[in-house]
Amino acid sequence: MSLFDRVELAPADPILGLTEAFVADPRPEKVNLGVGVYLDENGKLPLLDCVRDAESRLAADPKPKGYLGIDGSPAYRDAVRSLVFGDGADVLADGRVATVQTLGGTGALKVGADLLRQINPSATVLISNPSWENHRALFTRAGFRVDSYRYYEPALHGIDIDGMLADLRSADAGTVVVLHACCHNPTGYDLTPEQWDQVIETVRDRELMPFLDMAYQGFGFGIEEDGAVVARFIESGLEFFLSTSFSKSFSLYGERVGSLSVVSESADAARRVLSQLKICIRTNYSNPPTHGAALVTAVLTDGALRRGWEQELAAMRDRIKQLRRGLVGALEARGVTDMGFIAGQLGMFSYSGLTKQQMIALRTDYGIYGTDAGRMCVAALNTGNLGYVADAIAAVRS
Ligand code: PMP
Repeated sequence: MSLFDRVELAPADPILGLTEAFVADPRPEKVNLGVGVYLDENGKLPLLDCVRDAESRLAADPKPKGYLGIDGSPAYRDAVRSLVFGDGADVLADGRVATVQTLGGTGALKVGADLLRQINPSATVLISNPSWENHRALFTRAGFRVDSYRYYEPALHGIDIDGMLADLRSADAGTVVVLHACCHNPTGYDLTPEQWDQVIETVRDRELMPFLDMAYQGFGFGIEEDGAVVARFIESGLEFFLSTSFSKSFSLYGERVGSLSVVSESADAARRVLSQLKICIRTNYSNPPTHGAALVTAVLTDGALRRGWEQELAAMRDRIKQLRRGLVGALEARGVTDMGFIAGQLGMFSYSGLTKQQMIALRTDYGIYGTDAGRMCVAALNTGNLGYVADAIAAVRS
């Protein structure tokens, strides 16, 4: 008799499980459109030049590997805060933002969830329908009841804004609302500036707690353009949570570099919030790792490296848009004329509108791996596999 006899075998993670199936697939023409990773024209994970340069500089002047503070590197925190709130923003000068370095965007969400659970344990968390799979799991695991608000409307190939606002309006005060700041995962549909204003008004009226998740800054319209949502929330005067990630924008997935900022009404509140965030971190992993944050800090604070990064990020963004147009064109050439909406979606993902059966057929008949819900990572296409993917989609649609 072992204690572990009672341990049930958990199902594989829906996304990472797809990758396992992909790796095991022997067909050479297979394509992994499951996981949200940007691949270059050769189907390879890029190492950005700015990161390579920063890495060389760090290697030329090696530092001892001491512990960082619980809340991370001060230089990193300053660099992130300037990036997401703007250099010298009033809210920073007023001391109203508590920022901690986190283990990627996921770590930021979890530290934020743990703090929220401590200060408002009976709150419900609302996520978009659909949302990134891990939102529900993460907030559930943190002890919350998780419900969803209406978001994607298949008939519109867009957002059911009336449904979304109605669901927010009927939420209890204190409800946590997780909002994708840009490049909504999995649908690729973002709110317009006017719709953001409506959401902000509703959040204010109903006294909800917004939690902005910004994992793809720079992949929509640009770094500043995508970050404008944060500025809107600051302008509104609301208190809110903000998680950010450099996994995608720096292609630093495995380094786990992110941040959590909590914007409060006063510097005094921010100090108290920071003290509690530090306890959440200290009792989980004590303090964050050094290397990824050092790379990001080096790039963001050096004029030439920063310009290089902005260009490389723009190139990734533009290439994804080109791939979207390329896929739509290739589908049209094969007689599939009703999927033009893919070109207008934002970020790495496309909600293709394909059914579960069609997605399974893509996997079993063609070795093309997307989620059952029809999500495909457009950022994993290239000129070498695009025609094959278009052939397969046309075949499963016929
Ligand atoms: N939020 C969303 C919406 C995401 O898509 C992702 C990454 N897939 C994350 C958070 C987490 O990012 P990270 O890999 O930095 O933990």
